[in-house]
Amino acid sequence: MKKLLLSTALSLAIVYPATAEESRTAGGDKIQVIESSAGSESDAVQRAAEKMAEDSQVAVEGAVETAAEEAVEETTEAAAEEVEKIQAVEPAAADAEHEIQEKREAHGAGQAHWGYGGAESAPYWGTLDEAYHACGAGQAQSPINISKFLQEDLADIVSAYNPSSLSVVNNGHTIQVNFESGSSFSTDNMKYDLLQAHFHTPSEHYLDGAPYPMEVHFVHKAADGALGVIGVMMKVGEHNKVIEGIWQNAPINAGDEKNIESVKISATDLMPESKEYYKYEGSLTTPPCSEGVRWHVMKDPIDVSEGQLKAFQALFPVNARPVQALNDRVVTGD
Ligand SMILES: [Zn+2]
Repeated sequence: MKKLLLSTALSLAIVYPATAEESRTAGGDKIQVIESSAGSESDAVQRAAEKMAEDSQVAVEGAVETAAEEAVEETTEAAAEEVEKIQAVEPAAADAEHEIQEKREAHGAGQAHWGYGGAESAPYWGTLDEAYHACGAGQAQSPINISKFLQEDLADIVSAYNPSSLSVVNNGHTIQVNFESGSSFSTDNMKYDLLQAHFHTPSEHYLDGAPYPMEVHFVHKAADGALGVIGVMMKVGEHNKVIEGIWQNAPINAGDEKNIESVKISATDLMPESKEYYKYEGSLTTPPCSEGVRWHVMKDPIDVSEGQLKAFQALFPVNARPVQALNDRVVTGD
């Protein structure tokens, strides 16, 4: 039960920005439709007013000035009423948008439990919950195997990561580090605020047809609401001091969280020196698999020791979604 609640909480945390964007778009469409129909109503009012003004004119020419004045007055009143009606449509549209957003928030989080084994494993995610539809039907899903890419001079990733007090959560699917606000990276004139980092074993992305032992995902949110994730491969090598700090404080039970004020962590410490990367448009790699995620997969890995890898696998033996079809997407790289 604890596990179930937690997975829901995780989904909520991860999913919200994408669904917010979706609901904004959906609400926006609705507003546009209402506005355009309001627009044609305005046109109708104007035509009626013109027609009545013409009629008034005729009346004036016929020297029935009083009648003309009355007609003009009526026209003006009718037009004013129409304008009031149109104005009433705007708040209704705002309400509709709000309602859509509430529905999406309630529904988009997904209720069904999911995992990496048996009937709850990745191939079935799309069928577990209506909210997970994209997991089965999406055409721009993550992770992918990156073997061919279009060489391009990609915009630099300029990181601005600050030390943050360590906050580690075991959410039943992975170990997640939550960062305090104030850390970000920028690329292509877009700033992405760092939310959290979490780990997968083996790596979810493949480079040149093969996985690495682990992968860490740094989940960011841009000002436009889109998620931007930086993926960093982890190979077995040197003992990693930063990982040690995280693993030592990682709760063993799903649902538990540990906050250690005295231990500071910066995302920079878990990234390779070279910021060369591959870029493509994909999705969340966990339900509800929402698309529109801007992926930046670093070319260079970082190190963890064999013991550190084993320690993570003792908690989560396998927590990686299999690679997904590239379809008509193009991966670009430095
Ligand atoms: Zn991930």
